[in-house]
Amino acid sequence: MSAPRLEIHLEHLQHNATTMVKRLACQGIQVSGVSKATLGMPEIARTWVAAGVHSIAESRIESIEALSRCELGIPLLLIRSPMLSQVDRVVAHAAISCNSEAMVLRALAAAAQCQGVCHGVLLMVELGDLREGILAADLEEMVLLTLALPSLRLVGIGTNLGCQNGIAPDQSNMAELSRLIETLERRFGLRLEWCSGGNSANLPWLAAGGDPGRINHLRLGEALLLGREPLTGKAIPGLHTDAITLVAEVIECKLKPSRAWGTRHRTSFAKEPTSPQQQLEQPMALRALLALGEQDADPAGLSSPGISIEGASSDHLVVSGAVSALSVGDEQRFQVSYSCLLRAMTSPFVSRCFIDHRLDC
Ligand SMILES: *Cc1c(COP(=O)(O)O)cnc(C)c1O
Repeated sequence: MSAPRLEIHLEHLQHNATTMVKRLACQGIQVSGVSKATLGMPEIARTWVAAGVHSIAESRIESIEALSRCELGIPLLLIRSPMLSQVDRVVAHAAISCNSEAMVLRALAAAAQCQGVCHGVLLMVELGDLREGILAADLEEMVLLTLALPSLRLVGIGTNLGCQNGIAPDQSNMAELSRLIETLERRFGLRLEWCSGGNSANLPWLAAGGDPGRINHLRLGEALLLGREPLTGKAIPGLHTDAITLVAEVIECKLKPSRAWGTRHRTSFAKEPTSPQQQLEQPMALRALLALGEQDADPAGLSSPGISIEGASSDHLVVSGAVSALSVGDEQRFQVSYSCLLRAMTSPFVSRCFIDHRLDC
């Protein structure tokens, strides 16, 4: 089997998605599976459909288009605000898109009218993380505009926290979203379908007994893929954290001096030397060199019990610790962080392999 490779355990992914879909259904919350860290991998999307997600959410139109050819039978949601240059593709392939700009809404409406389709709009509200979103004071105006465009259908409002400034979803900002949707409904005499509270970062607040209020939808990526919540990196009880792992091959394994020698400077990956090097107890240490680097993964996001990551450059990863059993040609497996998964999925050097009863790996 080729290395490096991502091993994707579809049954574990299905378990994660089924568990979250059921858990959240008890609180009246539907789930969109966010597949962007897998570049919209169809096998994973199908697994999530089988697990009962409401829709598949993607950040890139290319992935939306590819998934639309898979005929999954559930809606596709574009979660990054459409580029003006892509509105035709968006209304052709996404049922719904997240929006925060009047100009984009007008362009989407024109494109939808041209194609004779009706496009769903989820208006994103800024609640403190300072990424995408309409300020609360401007929300009514944007609702008014959306309602006035006949080829658009206002699906609801949503927010996204945790991704830009790490702002945690809590009772205060989530209650604010519920208040906003109720104010809009009263003001315009309508009932909005979705109140989309956020992403995997919302799960600790809900698990701690947070009152969902009007929130009836979440967009989940990391929780379903890696079984972790993003704000602390903690494992979510009952989920697999190893549904997707990264395997790399050993290309050198030697006992070497514990300290580098010679005059030290920074490296190409901008690591300043931590001088002076500490006096180490062990003058010699076993190090394994793996054929894995910054071109394949985010080294900071790799973990394996007992293994220390000593450093990485474009094509090499140096590890120490529990490496005495390793020799050249052996494989070492790592759990991955979200950024590491995204990089590995994006790298042309990393292959993918599915673990499934039905498939031979
Ligand atoms: C990436 C993203 C998500 C999913 O985030 P996770 O932390 O992976 O659950 C949800 N909503 C939006 C708008 C996103 O960009």
